[in-house]
Amino acid sequence: VVAVDAGHGGIDAGAKGTVTNVEEKAITLEFARILVDRLNKERGVRAFLVRDKDEFISLSERVVIARQRGAQLFISLHADTLRQKDIRGATVYTISDKASDALAASLAERENLSDDIAGIQIEDEPDILLDLTRRETQAFSIRMAETVLESFEGQIGLINNPMRHAGFRVLQAPDVPSVLLELGFLSNPKDEALLTD
Ligand code: ZN
Repeated sequence: VVAVDAGHGGIDAGAKGTVTNVEEKAITLEFARILVDRLNKERGVRAFLVRDKDEFISLSERVVIARQRGAQLFISLHADTLRQKDIRGATVYTISDKASDALAASLAERENLSDDIAGIQIEDEPDILLDLTRRETQAFSIRMAETVLESFEGQIGLINNPMRHAGFRVLQAPDVPSVLLELGFLSNPKDEALLTD
């Protein structure tokens, strides 16, 4: 059971294309629909959309929806912008308290702002049992990220060091292996052309 999460939505449009003005929330939903249909053609796989229309869903709510519907894998889709416009290609992120690099840290920081846009308060309660589950799940998330990247080899352009990690709040399900896939960057005209094709 795979939860496919189209990033952003509603009041939170996400990034914007520099050539076409296309909004990230539209690209992620379109891609999510195609991915769900494709996954549902696989034997033994059932995929569903966390967000199926243009509406705002908080990051923690996305996790709740996925878990309530019995997700065993969670994949969040994005197409953000970077200040470095020459950077293009796909990236796969897993969650971590410590970011792998500055680029990952700033992306996670911006993604986590999504809840602030809608004025949602987050409280984190410490829980030792949850932490143990989390550690186990993280190993599965990393394996999932590796598998996704392997499947891209020779077909999808990747950025340097395409496997990165940072504190993405949408990847916080303690018991569902989760990855965030940056399909490409709307700040790069070539990526934008591919993302809107
Ligand atoms: Zn995004």
